[in-house]
Amino acid sequence: MNLPANHLKKVNQRIKEAIKQTNRPADSVRLIAVSKTKPAADVEQVYEAGQFDFGENYLQEAVDKINTLQHLAEIKWHFIGAIQSNKTRPIAENFDWVHSVDRLKIAKRLSEQRSAEQAPLNICLQVNISNEENKAGISLAEVPELAREVSQLNNIRLRGLMAIPLKTTDSSEQHHYFKQLKDCLDALNDEGLQLDTLSMGMSNDMEAAIDEGATMIRIGTAIFGERSTK
Ligand SMILES: *Cc1c(COP(=O)(O)O)cnc(C)c1O
Repeated sequence: MNLPANHLKKVNQRIKEAIKQTNRPADSVRLIAVSKTKPAADVEQVYEAGQFDFGENYLQEAVDKINTLQHLAEIKWHFIGAIQSNKTRPIAENFDWVHSVDRLKIAKRLSEQRSAEQAPLNICLQVNISNEENKAGISLAEVPELAREVSQLNNIRLRGLMAIPLKTTDSSEQHHYFKQLKDCLDALNDEGLQLDTLSMGMSNDMEAAIDEGATMIRIGTAIFGERSTK
């Protein structure tokens, strides 16, 4: 049957196979199911099949789903979309992770707006790894300074880096970009930051990402099917 829960099984199989090609532990990659544009019912079905991490790009849509699905006790929400600085509060209040931080101003607002009663908000810095003009994210050269600044803030915890490389079916090009992000993370850790997260790899390039050290992959289409354009 052509259901998201069945697709999830296939994706988990792909992840397992990809990890087998490396010498990494079987549980070293966390799958984020990207449910943007998809109904809450699809999220619930995938959750019932054992998938607890979900990624969303559009804030209002995400908050509606989060409210609808409050009964799913283990669910974790990841914000992976563009962040407007006047819309940080609902992100700070409703999510467990934010993968798309690319300015100090945004990080500061998230830090101020995250309640100290909640667990710290987990943060990744988004890097524009292929230097694409219209893509969000900082350049590799800008990472160390922003990482140092963000790691000082209260109520949020810098965990690592995220990238959406240039879309290509050329596997060696995919490897090239992912390796750059991995090297950048290693350099930050050599400097003394303690970062454990590389959020990289989507439906079309997850194998290359896992091979280069991804710890989180963000998969939409391969689980939920094609999206109608928004
Ligand atoms: C939409 C999206 C994904 C999922 O992409 P697929 O190709 O559908 O797997 C992953 N990450 C981000 C940031 C996205 O916006």
